[in-house]
Amino acid sequence: MKKYNFSAGPAILPAPVLEKSAQAVSNWNDSGLSLLEISHRSKPFVEVLNKAESLATELLGVPEGYKVLFLTGGASSQFFMSAMNLLNPEDLAVYIDTGAWSTKAIKEAKLFGQIEVLASSKDTNYNYIPKTYDVPQNAKYLHYTSNNTIFGTQFKEEPSSNCPLISDMSSDIFSRPVDVSRHGMIYAGAQKNMGPAGTTLVIIREDLLGKVSRTIPTMLNYQTHIAKDSSFNTPPVFPIFVSMLTMEWVKENGGVEKMATINEQKAAVVYDEIDRNPLFKGTAAKEDRSLMNATFVLENESLGEKFMEDATAAGCVGLKGHRSVGGFRASIYNAMTMEGVETLRDVMKAFEQKHA
Ligand SMILES: *Cc1c(COP(=O)(O)O)cnc(C)c1O
Repeated sequence: MKKYNFSAGPAILPAPVLEKSAQAVSNWNDSGLSLLEISHRSKPFVEVLNKAESLATELLGVPEGYKVLFLTGGASSQFFMSAMNLLNPEDLAVYIDTGAWSTKAIKEAKLFGQIEVLASSKDTNYNYIPKTYDVPQNAKYLHYTSNNTIFGTQFKEEPSSNCPLISDMSSDIFSRPVDVSRHGMIYAGAQKNMGPAGTTLVIIREDLLGKVSRTIPTMLNYQTHIAKDSSFNTPPVFPIFVSMLTMEWVKENGGVEKMATINEQKAAVVYDEIDRNPLFKGTAAKEDRSLMNATFVLENESLGEKFMEDATAAGCVGLKGHRSVGGFRASIYNAMTMEGVETLRDVMKAFEQKHA
């Protein structure tokens, strides 16, 4: 039976990407070898890495002066690496707190600099994006989480600020255009919208580096990885390869502008049904709703298990909401098809017929 994977992460990947990945694992390009058993310094793999870098640059319009890296340690390691590399102990950086991931980023950054939380939506269980705040003149950067995977909210535009932005784009990278030039740094764990778990995309403005007084361990210093083109040590070859294939797929399908248009259409199918159907209600403020993670609950919570059963019977999996929000979460990343979201909508409609 056909499955529609609404998991938040690791998450759905485009079907042709999975097929090509499987082929590369058993016999890559008719070489008689697996992609997994060749040297990361071999010409074929160096080409993969270069292609991944150039595709990211092209798709996001990364300007001169920035470096695209593929690192390990997840987006979670970027919470501390960013502050460690960019802040002296007395330097100020400001953060917008829009959920669990922002909170973790703030906690880690506090180990390395003076951190001020400009605004937070914690008071309402993070169901909206704060929009009013003053950025102090001396802030080195403003950090925000562009899409809040758990709470289902998303910045519709980049925050206004005089200082460079740093964004955790783990769950909406390549889902829409972004003005990289306003950012000092962008990072994203691969496993939401780019590839399998195991690599983290980092885009960093090189002139911001080398300005801190502390000693930085070699592996945690961005300059190490810049100098060695993400191959100071063995890079995560398979996650980089699959991410490269996904970026190729995004390009073949019209790039991030086209992704944004389709993502708007898919999200509209889900949210229109949440709003129309008297059995359900959305949890995020309408104007801040995420195009990637639609969070919703049943008015009558006791029907929850029944709804999950009906969804599963229709092939819709991965819909259970995060424990901090409850209810349901439909993650509708780039690779989710219109057919998938329409199937979910039809399950919700049929559920109304049975239980309204
Ligand atoms: C999943 C997620 C993370 C954590 O990523 P890891 O790669 O598991 O460290 C961080 N930020 C956001 C927005 C996420 O969705």
